[in-house]
Amino acid sequence: MTVKISKFIWDITYSCPLRCGHCYSESGRRSARTLDRATAMRVVDVMLAAQAKNVMFSGGEPMSVRWAVEAMKRLHDAGIEVTVFTTGWSIQDRMAAALADAVSGVAVSIDGADADIHDAVRGRAGAFERGMRALDALHRVKDERRAAGQTCFTLGIDYTLTRPGAKEADLERFVEAAIERFPRLDFIRFGAVVPSGLGAEREFETTGLLTIEELVDLIDVGRRIAARHENGPKITVTDVRYFLPRPGASLVDLDILQIEPDGALRAFPIYEAKVGNVLHEPLDVLWPRAQAWRSDPFVAEQMETVRTMSDWANTSRILDRRYGSPDDQERIARRGLGVQVPA
Ligand code: SF4
Repeated sequence: MTVKISKFIWDITYSCPLRCGHCYSESGRRSARTLDRATAMRVVDVMLAAQAKNVMFSGGEPMSVRWAVEAMKRLHDAGIEVTVFTTGWSIQDRMAAALADAVSGVAVSIDGADADIHDAVRGRAGAFERGMRALDALHRVKDERRAAGQTCFTLGIDYTLTRPGAKEADLERFVEAAIERFPRLDFIRFGAVVPSGLGAEREFETTGLLTIEELVDLIDVGRRIAARHENGPKITVTDVRYFLPRPGASLVDLDILQIEPDGALRAFPIYEAKVGNVLHEPLDVLWPRAQAWRSDPFVAEQMETVRTMSDWANTSRILDRRYGSPDDQERIARRGLGVQVPA
């Protein structure tokens, strides 16, 4: 019997055109580790056998992978909710149309009210323009499908809140512009950077990471903006503390798993600890290992002592350096000034 897992995050490549200072996967600065098509389809088989309800394609830039749409469509056709998180860098009309038959949702990452903020946060000039053009193409497909009486993906913007991009006036300005340009946008989701990967490093912590208090304030800001645009897209601020244990609630049984591009399985999303590879061992074996890691007294203690974002970043640094593979540890040791975000 195969264990059932309801949610998977699948980072299908570490290749990425952008260089975000907060990147949890350090994409674009490491080997892409993308699988060939046939092997990738075996990973799809694993998720189908686990009776997944929700699969999130991420990376890296998932739309840079040639077999990405085929993998998404196989899961989508099986009735699984498939969401792709993309920079939009390479999405034009044809790719947008292909996604309409392959996914339930598309979230384009935009992290600033304008090109100056977004491109600085995302580490590449032109990123804002490419993201907006991708949204144009995806929005057009929605319009066409709607006119033809067909269903289409939900379309929205995932806005990662870093210190440079989190001012209330900028967020309001951004929402107004987005609604005007994309009137049928389904959602705008704001969410603070989770201190993971580069986002957990000290350099980013001091320049880009929000505090818990700022995050809580931003939840109120989000409510105010949503109230001003109640007939527009659904506007939310995600409380990223979801990833932390709460009193009386354990993360041990939370059935969400993250698969790295080569099939390696993380014990828990966001941390570097691996418990094996879904291409080499069944989930029946890997899942109890993930649960064992999550309930390890050292891991549990690290997570349970988190009170602030700074504590959380510290916990991520400790866990990644202790449990990352030798490759991870070598890569982490090379991190330096490249993780800074402009003020
Ligand atoms: S955060 Fe996303 S867009 Fe930015 S470098 Fe990492 S994978 Fe690329």
